[in-house]
Amino acid sequence: MSKVIIIGGGAAGMLAGIYAARNGHRVTILEKNEKLGKKLYITGKGRCNITNACDMETLFEHVMTNSKFLYSSFYSYNNFDVIDLFESLGLKTKIERGNRVFPQSDKSSDVIGALQKELQQLGVSIHFGSEVEDLLVEDGVCKGVRLKGEKKILSAEAVIVATGGLSYPTTGSTGDGYKFAKNIGHTITECNPSLVPFNIKESFIKELQGLSLKNIQVTVYSKNKEIYRNFGEMLFTHFGVSGPVILSASSYVIPYLKKGEITMTIDLKPALTEEQLDARILRDFEELRNKQFKNAIDNLLPRKLIPIIISLSGIDPYKKVNTITKDERLNLVHTIKNMKLSVASIRSYNEAVITKGGISVKEVNPSTMESKYAKGLYFAGEVLDLDALTGGFNLQIAWSTAYTAATAIE
Ligand SMILES: Cc1cc2nc3c(=O)[nH]c(=O)nc-3n(C[C@H](O)[C@H](O)[C@H](O)COP(=O)(O)OP(=O)(O)OC[C@H]3O[C@@H](n4cnc5c(N)ncnc54)[C@H](O)[C@@H]3O)c2cc1C
Repeated sequence: MSKVIIIGGGAAGMLAGIYAARNGHRVTILEKNEKLGKKLYITGKGRCNITNACDMETLFEHVMTNSKFLYSSFYSYNNFDVIDLFESLGLKTKIERGNRVFPQSDKSSDVIGALQKELQQLGVSIHFGSEVEDLLVEDGVCKGVRLKGEKKILSAEAVIVATGGLSYPTTGSTGDGYKFAKNIGHTITECNPSLVPFNIKESFIKELQGLSLKNIQVTVYSKNKEIYRNFGEMLFTHFGVSGPVILSASSYVIPYLKKGEITMTIDLKPALTEEQLDARILRDFEELRNKQFKNAIDNLLPRKLIPIIISLSGIDPYKKVNTITKDERLNLVHTIKNMKLSVASIRSYNEAVITKGGISVKEVNPSTMESKYAKGLYFAGEVLDLDALTGGFNLQIAWSTAYTAATAIE
């Protein structure tokens, strides 16, 4: 039996606490907030997309950074093990579109409640308002931690750092774990906000604020190279674009941010080829031949988009439909299928679902999550240089790495 300290009572910290205690260790969780799982509470828009009920191959495919490092971890504790754990704790789950797993109650607070109750039943000691300032490492062995503003060391035979990343800092994830790891020689790879909206340069974007588009296709380019293409939903905001397809795009875009201009095109009618769309417009134009152009595309596009597309098409909005030339019409078709936006930048950590980057996995044992620089020191969750797409995959990383760390402690 070892004395185990877990820094951070988020997803990874709580799950690690359960398995370390089940293995007979004396476990203390140190959480700087006044409650557990502050970030977990806001996951999945308050519903918590716990994991994804997909096969192993799909699980790995959705990991964007260092998926190979997760081999041992995912195989020892997979998505179905997570579902089994929650069901065994009395939390009923359900599977939605895209195999996303949620609590049946649609309440993230029930996920936190289930974990907290189990921690209490196992006798895990949970200290709130306890901010760790640094680790105590002597001769390559982690001996404990020091709390902020205190000289006294809390000693332990094993310490798990589960402090999360940098996104949504108000939830308590302020990158403290990077500092701890750096102090003992670990490399922290470049960190960036990810699964994050984009600021867009075009000034017309403000006029589209609040418009949500379903069934569109977004293609993103770095200079002229295509780096991302997908169908789905997006949302226009006062600063730019957001929504599921855009958040996923950000994960692909980040490595290209410093390489030059990023642009995107939105295909507003991906189900139609240019020829099919032209035929459709031609039909509409024949019916509305005596109307002005600005009044002839109501059936084609959402209201907010009409003045923007008219302006981008270069056709005089007051022109009679029967005087629009074929070239002008083809230009309109091209604009609708290739609405171009220029990315100014990504939004900040305050709006990012996760952090891309973190403690270099080269310096961590993938079978145990133990630091290669300090015996008895383990890392779990978002603090590591691991990240995935949306769909429950980021929490799966937290659960699997936490299980691996907790069960590796002797
Ligand atoms: C808005 C939003 C929605 C999301 N939705 C989903 C989703 O539905 N599905 C999904 O898979 N992922 C989702 N994620 C991502 C997911 O929440 C994270 O990947 C996951 O919470 C990481 O878990 P963690 O335990 O590593 O870190 P965290 O959950 O961030 O927990 C870290 C904990 O450590 C504590 N801490 C930090 N420093 C110290 C210190 N020095 N001393 C003591 N305590 C400290 C913090 O207060 C915090 O409680 C979402 C993220 C956001 C922001």
